[in-house]
Amino acid sequence: MQGLSRVELMPRDVGGHQPRSIAGIETPRTLDEVRALVRRSMGAGRRLYPISTGKNWGMGSAMPVTDDNVVVDLSGMNRIRGLDLDTGYAVIEPGVTQAQLAEVLRDTPWMLNVTNSCADTSVVGNALDRGDGTFRSRVHDVAGLEAVLADGSVVTTGGLDPSGRYHGRVAGPDLTAAFVQHNLGIVTAMAVALMPRPQSVGLVHARIPRDQVGVALDAIAGFLRRGNPADGMLRVRELALTPSHGDWLLPAGVDRDLFTVLGPLLGSDAAVELAEELLRKALVEVVGAETLRVIDPTEVRPGDPLYARALMAQGIPTCLGVRNALRVTSCDQIDEGKIGFLALMPLMPTGARRTEHLLAALQTAVDAHTTALMVEWNLVSRHMANGVIQIFFERGAPDASYRAHQLRNDGNCVLRGNGCAIYRSDIDHAAADAWSETSTASLGMLHRLKTALDPDGLLSPGRYGA
Ligand SMILES: Cc1cc2nc3c(=O)[nH]c(=O)nc-3n(C[C@H](O)[C@H](O)[C@H](O)COP(=O)(O)OP(=O)(O)OC[C@H]3O[C@@H](n4cnc5c(N)ncnc54)[C@H](O)[C@@H]3O)c2cc1C
Repeated sequence: MQGLSRVELMPRDVGGHQPRSIAGIETPRTLDEVRALVRRSMGAGRRLYPISTGKNWGMGSAMPVTDDNVVVDLSGMNRIRGLDLDTGYAVIEPGVTQAQLAEVLRDTPWMLNVTNSCADTSVVGNALDRGDGTFRSRVHDVAGLEAVLADGSVVTTGGLDPSGRYHGRVAGPDLTAAFVQHNLGIVTAMAVALMPRPQSVGLVHARIPRDQVGVALDAIAGFLRRGNPADGMLRVRELALTPSHGDWLLPAGVDRDLFTVLGPLLGSDAAVELAEELLRKALVEVVGAETLRVIDPTEVRPGDPLYARALMAQGIPTCLGVRNALRVTSCDQIDEGKIGFLALMPLMPTGARRTEHLLAALQTAVDAHTTALMVEWNLVSRHMANGVIQIFFERGAPDASYRAHQLRNDGNCVLRGNGCAIYRSDIDHAAADAWSETSTASLGMLHRLKTALDPDGLLSPGRYGA
């Protein structure tokens, strides 16, 4: 059929997960081609695994959860269907990249909540896996969806209407979130809520001694709970845990004695100034917080270590972060590069005592598997943080991949044992992570929903356990 192609797929995965066998690749470029593919696959015993750009690095890249799926690569379905500059919504297809949408938004009153991943990653794919952007969790960007169900029908959710216009949340139940971290359909369009481009952007940066991390998190959480007058998300990051012996790997520039506080403050000049003042006051007891600077990101030049973050604070995506971390010159090399990468993503507390306790428990796992890790707290809400634990390893070195996977497994157990549920998972653990945090009755409801819509398990089998 025109527009659909079949090619050989070699499994490529920077995480070094157990390779899955692939039954083929399809590359539909339009809604009608997706529907035709689903209809042809119904009853033919084919399983379809949609990806947007397939750069889910650290969680399985473009690999399906189970064997013998046909990967449905939607990167060629890349139209920006609509842009409403009055209300700040874009309606985009799965292949639309961060770079593509950010470029269209240049010189408009709106910007994209960009992630630190490659500029050519999909906005839709990332949001469907509940990623985190620079300004907020991508959860807040997903306003509505269009999806093809397993019987070939097309549904829209939220306030996205069948003709592709977004109206805002309309009356009645909203099933949008049921498609996020789930496998109810192939998402063919998303209404994305954009960020207002502010009068002023300040980029917070501080480098603080390692032993202050608990106190600093407590202080920043207090600042957020009392009310940050500016928009934007603060991160506590680059906290490295290294084993006492053995070979281990961390990105260049990471200092084991320090961690970083980083993130944008967005708003009017007055709001950003006040936020800076309140943040400084909140951190007054933290030793080393006097290093805190609030930088004008437009003045940061290429070559400065903060250049990538300065671009992102202005809604400009960049590949510099991923390329530096994984030591490649092109993002196309990542899945075949020398550096391996795994991610573990727990919900983390922000209190000092629990933080120190968790870090001590993680250190035990680090020592046991002689592999380093790096912890990041994305302060996505006033309640808790989205943790991002990054594990880097040398792919050619004996046992390095095995030890990294063992560290992720043990880290997962340590975290869950300490009450930190996993909020985003990988192709090896998604089922266990979802099942362990969901009651039997709720799992039963999800199963009934899935069976009603997709009785033959045609779409994304195994994704998040469904
Ligand atoms: C150094 C580094 C930094 C990173 N920084 C960030 C960061 O700041 N924030 C962040 O969130 N992530 C980050 N990542 C992780 C990852 O690279 C991004 O999340 C990336 O956006 C995910 O890949 P993708 O956009 O190509 O999505 P995809 O891989 O296409 O999609 C992810 C999954 O969603 C499902 N899916 C995708 N599209 C569809 C569809 N149309 N219909 C149904 N299901 C679908 C599939 O199961 C797929 O496996 C980082 C990774 C590295 C290595």
